[in-house]
Amino acid sequence: MPPRSEYGTLTISPKRPPQGASEGAMVEGPQAAFGVIGGSGFTAMPGLADARAFDLDTPFGAPSSAVTVGSLGGRQVAFIARHGEGHTTLPEEIPARANVYALKALGVTRILSVSAVGSLREDMHPMDAVVPDQVIDRTSGRASTFFGDGAVAHVGFADPFCPSVAGALADAVEVAGVAVHRGGTLVVINGPAFSTRAESHLYRQWGADIIGMTALPEAKLAREAECCYASLCFVTDYDVWREGEDDVSADLVMQRLSANVARGREAVAGAIASLGDRPRACGCGDALGSALMTSRERVPSATRQRLGVIVERYWGAA
Ligand SMILES: [Zn+2]
Repeated sequence: MPPRSEYGTLTISPKRPPQGASEGAMVEGPQAAFGVIGGSGFTAMPGLADARAFDLDTPFGAPSSAVTVGSLGGRQVAFIARHGEGHTTLPEEIPARANVYALKALGVTRILSVSAVGSLREDMHPMDAVVPDQVIDRTSGRASTFFGDGAVAHVGFADPFCPSVAGALADAVEVAGVAVHRGGTLVVINGPAFSTRAESHLYRQWGADIIGMTALPEAKLAREAECCYASLCFVTDYDVWREGEDDVSADLVMQRLSANVARGREAVAGAIASLGDRPRACGCGDALGSALMTSRERVPSATRQRLGVIVERYWGAA
């Protein structure tokens, strides 16, 4: 048994016991201010200094991958590979609640997400980056809230992405040499199949600019967890609407994505450096303040316990 430590309801086991640790000894828990969730092709953050990987277990299950915690320019960063280290998790199977809960429990206040998307607009070319400011939810059957079982909250989601983290990502990806589109509407579909041609044309008529499979429910959960969240999206294809263009395929996505992975990492590092230790000026950190409908006394203790770090600030330790 590797040594473990428990923070409330989070169980932490290092992948390898630290040197010299005795059997069963408590581990000094990792802490991080920034969380990075990497999508297809973005399965590691090799630039993290003193990186250590931890297996975490949350009340919502285990995250998609071990969580790697290390230092980037003097800031502690926790990294999760969204589809697992060997890309073994379908978009609809991603344990988004466990991922966001684990980051929150480590102390993360800002989450940077990186993902591949299809373009629904002529001028958003493959290899460009888009930092969206809106989403349309076409997913179904995904657990998209930490609440339930006797506890109700309705967070505001009119502006689903944090403007401050989004701005930092857009600036940093531009510095990394990628053409960037600031703002845009991302339609999130369940997949795993890509769209039909009729759907692709329909999303264009709706005014959507890019299409992906993973930003939801992640962004909703980050809002409930009072974490800033923004998504850096790399365009890999024109979905299936554009005549004379190759239809999207997994091969095409991976081929175009691999060319941008290094720039994605550079952009994430640049955004973290520029956000630095600046206090948050956005409203993300108080998202639950006006959202909780149920009074603490009415919430079953098992529910309060499961919500753990999500509501601790309002309801105290479970
Ligand atoms: Zn924010």
